Amino acid sequence: MSAAPDRQTTLQIDCVIIGAGPVGLFQAFQLGLQEIPCQIVDALPHAGGQCVELYADKPIYDVPGIPVCSGRELAERLQQQLAPFKTPLHLGQQVEGLVRQDDGRWRLQTSAGLVLLARAVVIAAGVGAFVPRRVAIDGLSSFEGRQVHYHAVEPDRLKDQRVVVQGGDEAALETALQLAASGQCASVTLLHRNSKFKADPALEAALQQALADGRIALALGQPVGLQPSADGQRLAALEIAIDDEHTETLAADALLPRLGLSPKLGPIADWGLAMERKLLSVDPATLATSLDGIHAVGDICHYPGKRKLLLCGFHEATLAAFAIAAWLRPEQRQLLQYTTTSPRLHELLGVAGKSDRA
Ligand SMILES: Cc1cc2nc3c(=O)[nH]c(=O)nc-3n(C[C@H](O)[C@H](O)[C@H](O)COP(=O)(O)OP(=O)(O)OC[C@H]3O[C@@H](n4cnc5c(N)ncnc54)[C@H](O)[C@@H]3O)c2cc1C
Repeated sequence: MSAAPDRQTTLQIDCVIIGAGPVGLFQAFQLGLQEIPCQIVDALPHAGGQCVELYADKPIYDVPGIPVCSGRELAERLQQQLAPFKTPLHLGQQVEGLVRQDDGRWRLQTSAGLVLLARAVVIAAGVGAFVPRRVAIDGLSSFEGRQVHYHAVEPDRLKDQRVVVQGGDEAALETALQLAASGQCASVTLLHRNSKFKADPALEAALQQALADGRIALALGQPVGLQPSADGQRLAALEIAIDDEHTETLAADALLPRLGLSPKLGPIADWGLAMERKLLSVDPATLATSLDGIHAVGDICHYPGKRKLLLCGFHEATLAAFAIAAWLRPEQRQLLQYTTTSPRLHELLGVAGKSDRA
């Protein structure tokens, strides 16, 4: 995985995939079988898309050949399958711009300043980029990444700090409990608008126990303002409205808002691609969009009969890989090779010469 670049970095490649959800990951695998080097960009700090973000621990029963696996497990298996191709993943950055260059290549620009120049692009953006719901307090955004963390943060970065976790659902409770268990923070406070939580009973029982033991403190109210440090450089405390008339001050060295994620189609709608009801119209035979060199697969694409299912996304990724190979190498005859028997595919997968499985 690449770190977000400080300055603008430009990479030139054959193909870029926007989205490291299950379909984007399988797309990279299929492109690998076609010997098309690609790189993936995702707004989330990890791969797996909806499977990891929306139902990581829930079971999936309809992936062929896997009677049951969790969302997280499927994402892990897809990454294992992709491993032989060593596909670079640029995580935690949203693709904001997609513009055609004079030489026909596509120029992608990410929110972290990365520029990718590619001959082909696959949009596997699902329901859009998952963006954490922001806390609406004036001035808070200037502390993001330093003291305000919307995504997972290692407990040792919060060593000896007074940490406030905001939210009342599973993500908030899990974060507060994990930090309390790490024993690294000076204090852990769960901040929620009321004492009703949206979490499974076992998690809530664990929270109640931690509150009773004093490992976690509970603050009820809504953050409405902030207090900076004397030099204005750091966040020192939050102002919490506890009812219509009263506010309290809550000291905070770090704020971890866990208010859920909302998918945002975002800039994709501005790239000049033909759309139907916020989805990208594609040819079901090739998954080509209305613009040359750009394909769309998975939940983001639309054609008659489209179903938003993993299996359908995997099928689309396979057809798109063949179509992209034909687009990039029009002079080459396309062969259908089986992973079971093709020596070339065995070489690509790093299994050449390995003995057959019983
Ligand atoms: C609760 C739930 C249960 C489900 N259960 C099943 C099931 O049992 N079986 C089944 O077949 N399907 C199931 N599905 C549907 C399945 O999860 C989706 O069909 C699948 O996730 C689609 O994969 P995808 O890769 O197209 O999109 P996603 O999983 O949505 O991934 C898209 C990725 O693109 C990224 N992205 C978007 N825009 C940008 C951008 N501009 N820049 C950078 N990154 C971007 C997003 O951050 C995201 O990670 C379920 C869905 C839900 C919500």
